[in-house]
Amino acid sequence: MTTIITGGSRGIGRAIAVQLAEDGHDIAFCYRGNEDAAKETAAGIEAHGRQVVCKAVDVASFEQVRSFVEEAEQELGPATAAVSCAGITRDRSLALMDPADWNAVLRTNLDGAFHLTRAVAFGMMRRKSGAVVLVSSVAGLSANPGQSNYAASKAGTHGLASSLSKEAGRYGVRVNVVAPGFIETDMVASMKPSVRARAETCIPLGGFGSPADVAHAVSFLLSERAAYITGAVLRVDGGLS
Ligand code: NAP
Repeated sequence: MTTIITGGSRGIGRAIAVQLAEDGHDIAFCYRGNEDAAKETAAGIEAHGRQVVCKAVDVASFEQVRSFVEEAEQELGPATAAVSCAGITRDRSLALMDPADWNAVLRTNLDGAFHLTRAVAFGMMRRKSGAVVLVSSVAGLSANPGQSNYAASKAGTHGLASSLSKEAGRYGVRVNVVAPGFIETDMVASMKPSVRARAETCIPLGGFGSPADVAHAVSFLLSERAAYITGAVLRVDGGLS
């Protein structure tokens, strides 16, 4: 099994990469620029005896994503699975939002998901086998104030997955979404304690999730145990939404 992951250097993407290595996948992952973090992920994959390819790639560039996927497939064999996880936030109320922040979030989160799926879908459909998971957010289902760019990018990801699941199902390719709530990563590290405390009171299971909680859901959706599941949005949010 060869699995291609975007945003694998840190946080949720790293947990997914290491979990899938434990599941027996060889892993190709990309990241934006944090080479030290990428090396740690690569070591975690190799510790499970699996092969790894990693590369600094901007997912906003289709050419970069396509050549990364080509290199990964040359090295590890055709992609059997793909996970789009690279993502950023640039929170600001819409009335004050810089268009550059709108564009950066849409280009990374939504265009990035398109670029990865566009690079792998044709080959998977030709081989009549494959599974894709797009990591979105519960913000794509019910938005928070100050996140219009992020919520739009994640709601767009749901639309992408829904349409592609209907195009690809007859070719044996499954496409699902995992929508996390609050997960302990660098992305939430800068939350003000008061905002965090308020968020925690809204979570029925009582606190923020771990990257491993999300990785377990991705592992399931890529496995044969999910062979009859496509077009689904699986929330991993402790009941928040
Ligand atoms: P994180 O810890 O900030 O890690 C982000 C990852 O994305 C890093 O590997 C980063 O690479 C990579 N990345 C960012 N921009 C990129 C680009 N243009 N091209 C390639 N890679 C890029 O984030 P996280 O919390 O793990 O989030 C992962 C995903 O889960 C995101 O899609 C996020 O929206 C979603 N999510 C997170 C939460 C949460 O509470 N944490 C909740 C809901 C959804 P570098 O290390 O090189 O910067």
